[in-house]
Amino acid sequence: MAARQAKKTQLDDVMPGRLDQMSYASLIARHGTDAIVVTGTDGLVEWANPAFQRLSGYTVEEMQGRKPGAVLQGADTDPGTVAMISQALKEKRQVRTEILNYSKTGDAYWIELNITPVFDASGKHTHFMSIERDVTERKRFEQEAREAQTREASRQEERRLLAQTSEWLYAAKSMEELLAVVRRCMERIVPEASGALYIYSNSRDMLERTIQWGADLGGEQTMHMEADDCWSLRRGRAYAFGGEDIHFVCGHHRSREDTPSLCLPLIAHGDTIGMLSLVFSDLSIDEDGHSQVQKLVSNRWELSLVCAEQISLAVANVRLRQQLQDQSVRDQLTGLWNRRWFMEMAQKELNRTTSRKLPLSLVSLDVDHFKLFNDHHGHDAGDIVLREVGALMRTSFGGMASPCRLGGEEFTVIVPEMPVADVMAEADAFRLALSELSVRCNGATLPRITISGGVATAPDDGTTLDELIKAADTALYAAKAGGRDCILPAVHRDMDRAIAAE
Ligand code: GH3
Ligand code: MG
Ligand code: MG
Repeated sequence: MAARQAKKTQLDDVMPGRLDQMSYASLIARHGTDAIVVTGTDGLVEWANPAFQRLSGYTVEEMQGRKPGAVLQGADTDPGTVAMISQALKEKRQVRTEILNYSKTGDAYWIELNITPVFDASGKHTHFMSIERDVTERKRFEQEAREAQTREASRQEERRLLAQTSEWLYAAKSMEELLAVVRRCMERIVPEASGALYIYSNSRDMLERTIQWGADLGGEQTMHMEADDCWSLRRGRAYAFGGEDIHFVCGHHRSREDTPSLCLPLIAHGDTIGMLSLVFSDLSIDEDGHSQVQKLVSNRWELSLVCAEQISLAVANVRLRQQLQDQSVRDQLTGLWNRRWFMEMAQKELNRTTSRKLPLSLVSLDVDHFKLFNDHHGHDAGDIVLREVGALMRTSFGGMASPCRLGGEEFTVIVPEMPVADVMAEADAFRLALSELSVRCNGATLPRITISGGVATAPDDGTTLDELIKAADTALYAAKAGGRDCILPAVHRDMDRAIAAE
């Protein structure tokens, strides 16, 4: 009330009627809401209005004889703006800008600053007049709007990357392709993290590290792990190490104990199939880091969960595709390639080796008196024998060979790029190793397994697949006729012709 009274009294001084020029100027200077500072040509403060004191906290007396910049500018004041103002003052030009100032109590505030040089009637420069308006609120809104814009832009970028990732993940046909896509996409989507993808082994007793990525992994993640090594797998949900008040480091991390990380179980169709691990090596969980980690977790949590979900479904998808494909080309009993695959692959290999003038052999094999295993020891014993033959075939004939079961107890191995003599030696070594196997069924040891075989090699024994198969089979029949338990080479076509010509 007293204040209002005082104000009224002041206005009464200048009312009623028109005021003279100086009184108007005084009225504006006293009651205007913009801060006004007048400095001399030397830049030292001579006078400031009450609005300036309200804004800065400095009285006129405190400012007088000092340069405003020296008092009001601080650590975050832009030096470029300061230099620009100095230059304008030196050239006695008007300057209008925005600048960060600090009040007497140390609070930062933004002002819109308008400095005008003042000249007397003779044109002599006498003063500078600064008018300052507080724009802190507007600046804050602008800053918030910019931050919101940046957040929205990064969310949009995330959505775009996720959409792209999803497309690539579902386009992957093999696990190899899929893992390459995962690595590439994760490096882009969460670039501040190193990572590894663990997948359950077929026996499901272990998780194997299939890929890893990131700059400084340096073996931070173990090659193998058990489900118990990971808190996310134990607790059945995603886990942020460093993001919660109580946390324990996972056993599969070899990194420092203060490195934050995310463990995201991969779950598809209700089955846990693996775990996506992300490690943020550039952050650490100390007093300061804790808040950083929480910020990071809140920023990256949802995104990482979506990635894990997409990867889970893609892995399940590729596995299913592989299973279906395998079922169509694999023999169920022995796990060897089936007849369908043999026909396709043998033709491809024949084309390839022919064009490069390399040999290609087919080793046709047939278990001797196999029927007797069935008849004397049961069908299961026959199956066991077939599995044993298959297992031994997989470890014989070298790395390039493809062992196939064509049906019943008939097998063929495609052996590319090996001289005939070596193929014969390999086949005979296989025959011998098989006959030395001790195979048991229902507590009894089965009789010795012997096998007969015929070897045909392109181009000498045939140049088409049909010719080769026939030649190998003919040699196999010869081996059977000759008493079994032996491997014979095909008789060369040239020799056939030579014999026929005699
Ligand atoms: P040889 O020495 O002349 O080759 O005589 P073999 O008894 O081995 O040949 P044969 O063709 O007379 O008998 C093959 C038997 O294999 C007949 C068939 O019942 C049996 N068989 C075919 N497929 C399977 C299978 O998947 N499991 C089992 N246990 N037996 C099979
Ligand atoms: Mg047979
Ligand atoms: Mg047989």
